[in-house]
Amino acid sequence: MSAPDEENIVADIIERARALDPTNARKWFEQLRVLHFDGGSIDIGCPDEASSRFLEENCRSVFTRAAQQITGHLVTVDFHVNGAEGSSEPIPAESGPALHPDYTFDNFVVGPSNRLAHASCIAVSQSLGNTYNPLFLYGNSGLGKTHLLHAICHEARKRSPGIVIQLLSCEDFVNRFIRAIEQGNVTSFHSQFRTVGALIIDDIQFLREREQSQEEFFHTFNALYNNGRQIILTADSPPTEIPSLEDRLISRFNWGLVARIDPPSYETRVAIVQKKAHLRDLPIGEEIAEYIARQVQANIRELEGALTTIYALAVTSKEPVTIELAQRALEGQIKLAARHISITDIIEVVTRHFDVRLTDLQSKRRSQSITTPRQICMYMARTLTKHSLEEIGGHLGGRDHTTVMHACAKIAEEKQSDPKMNALLTELTRQVTQAKPA
Ligand code: ADP
Ligand code: MG
Repeated sequence: MSAPDEENIVADIIERARALDPTNARKWFEQLRVLHFDGGSIDIGCPDEASSRFLEENCRSVFTRAAQQITGHLVTVDFHVNGAEGSSEPIPAESGPALHPDYTFDNFVVGPSNRLAHASCIAVSQSLGNTYNPLFLYGNSGLGKTHLLHAICHEARKRSPGIVIQLLSCEDFVNRFIRAIEQGNVTSFHSQFRTVGALIIDDIQFLREREQSQEEFFHTFNALYNNGRQIILTADSPPTEIPSLEDRLISRFNWGLVARIDPPSYETRVAIVQKKAHLRDLPIGEEIAEYIARQVQANIRELEGALTTIYALAVTSKEPVTIELAQRALEGQIKLAARHISITDIIEVVTRHFDVRLTDLQSKRRSQSITTPRQICMYMARTLTKHSLEEIGGHLGGRDHTTVMHACAKIAEEKQSDPKMNALLTELTRQVTQAKPA
């Protein structure tokens, strides 16, 4: 037990950190304790691994600043998992994936758009391997797939603390497989994945075109499935629409339950904003929550971003959160959404930049000098307009939706891996949006 003045110090630091950065503050900060404090450093004890990791990743600098202001010393802050009061059991060694502390079922708002996905995740988490196997969730980015995967893990671990669960992104799976091949370690790779209680892979669409990884995953899947082990996968589209995925994988992904997540309704969005504010202990009026829910519609990550932007502005301007302040904070974002960008606008900018003609883009030509701008048009149309894959394909020479999907995925990947492509897309987007004043 810490001395009383140390307890006060942590409460003061938390209060100060909350004021400095309200959006990363959480209600559970109340459970933090001082483990050790001398003139130069403060060790803060966290209830579990997930909370310690969250603080480490998001709050280190703000806690340090707060601690320095409170103590008047140049102290450093460290976070440790401890046996703080009210904490859960000690975590077994080799406890599996690091989970986000916010991504629990309690913090997930259920509505018509995600009801089936949520219910199936609850069922699976209560009895791994015995209900829906595999469970396949799909939906656009930012609709809660990763959140649900973490929630399953939190719940399953609570029920059976010793359970071995592998949760990782598909990209991680592929990279670890490649490394195992390079290092001649494929056997240990097999045992790492084929003996777990549950294998959870996020964004499985990343397997497309990776033939050897698909082969490996096929055998992993079979080994787990035949032993009644739980498999859970997510993707941005249903199994049949993931381009260049082997048929035998597609059919296996359909063996269990495939659940779609749709964009949330207005009412669900309001409830999510309120839930997120509550989690951060931010006071939020109904009017503000409704305002945010009206402005941001398609992506919950952006809904959360809007909340953050508003409260960040309130802190920097030292003003209360009012509708007027919220409007000011979101002005830039809304302007972008209000500009009705058309595929023609995009084609115009892209053809000008690459010095090609629209008829080239619509032709069957497959030289790189034509395919790259064609694919960039598809990607930008997908991200900047609300047109369907079919409509986008229609504008570019009647290409089918899988071609468009493939192009979007390819450019999205290059954007990640190639800084030049990233810069080019930023510039082209700037040109398209500038040509369309709000
Ligand atoms: P995806 O993996 O589908 O791209 P995430 O799971 O990363 O989406 O969700 C993006 C953000 O939106 C996360 O912060 C998550 O907590 C939040 N979120 C998504 N759906 C919900 C929901 N129904 N209730 C509460 N938060 C949600
Ligand atoms: Mg995700």
